[in-house]
Formats: sequence, structure tokens, C-alpha cells
Amino acid sequence: MIVTLTLLNGPRKNSSLALRSPGRYVIGSGELADFRIAREEDPYVAGEHALLDVAALCCKVVSLAGTNPLIVNGDHVRERVLANGHTIQVGLTRIGVQTLLPWCYRCGETGQDLVESADSDGRFWELNEIAVYSHPACLTPDHSFSGKSIAGMEIQRSWVVAVSALYGWHSTARLAGSGQSNR
Ligand SMILES: [Zn+2]
Repeated sequence: MIVTLTLLNGPRKNSSLALRSPGRYVIGSGELADFRIAREEDPYVAGEHALLDVAALCCKVVSLAGTNPLIVNGDHVRERVLANGHTIQVGLTRIGVQTLLPWCYRCGETGQDLVESADSDGRFWELNEIAVYSHPACLTPDHSFSGKSIAGMEIQRSWVVAVSALYGWHSTARLAGSGQSNR
């Protein structure tokens, strides 16, 4: 899952940070915070105020600052699973949350396999608005790209297929002869 945090108020309003890999990220005023809100911007943000735990399929925020409240969508929370459109508040600073997850255009589901395949070439973020993805099992023979050629390379396995008006073809399927993803 890719999580984008955007400042909704304060002197750096609208600046954002995309967290593109699973991990644990600290929101706070400390020098080492991953998403830093300096004391000059907001004196009510603790050095380590909240922890954002980003996994492949979900993400949650956990309070780290005992006395400084963590607020999600207006509620004081210790911990909350985040969804697209949620708002986190630390101190006086409000942070918008955008989550991006690939889903299968045939069955509407997502999953670990689809997430990993969609970003296997590191371009999920770049292509997220123009790409579509599918589980291989959800493709009917008519939709299967296996055995077809793109740029002279034969697709052996269409794990993920994306079609783009701007880029022509994009595919992270395994290609014969290359052993690598290609586009
Ligand atoms: Zn599917």
C-alpha cells in the first residue's frame, strides 16, 4: 500500500510525503521524524507523536505521545486503522491520508500477490491513475495476454496487466527471454 500524507493547515499547507514501501514511520517534531512538523510550525506536536505502521494491505496509526492526543477524524484514539480520506490531527496540525492499493478490475479484490506484482517494476505509483490490474485467474482466455507478444517479447505469465492510453502498453508480466519485468 502506498500512503500519502498531506498537511492540511499550517505554514507548509498542501506539502505532502508519499510512503511507498511497508514500514514504520514516525510523525513528530523530532529531528529524526519521518514526517516532521517543526516546533516553529506547531509547538503542540511531540518529538515522536505518532507511529504510522504501513503494511502491504493496510495501515494504522498509533499514539506515541502519552499526554499529547492523537486525533483521527475528530476522535481521540490510541490506535486506528486508516482508510483513504481519513484525517489525522497531531497538535494543531491536520494531516490528510490518501491510501493507494491496486485491485483487480475483474473481481474487485486485492491481495498480497496483486500488491507485489503491481509494484514489481517500481512503477505502481507512477502509473496508478492509468493502469488496470488483474489476477491471472480472473482473466478469461479472451483477456489473457499469455503467449502474446509485446515489443518482440513473449509474455509467459500475465500476473499483472496494465493498459495505458499515454504509454501504450505497460506490463509487469514475466517476459520470455528477459527474466525481468518489462514495459
Ligand atoms: Zn481478480
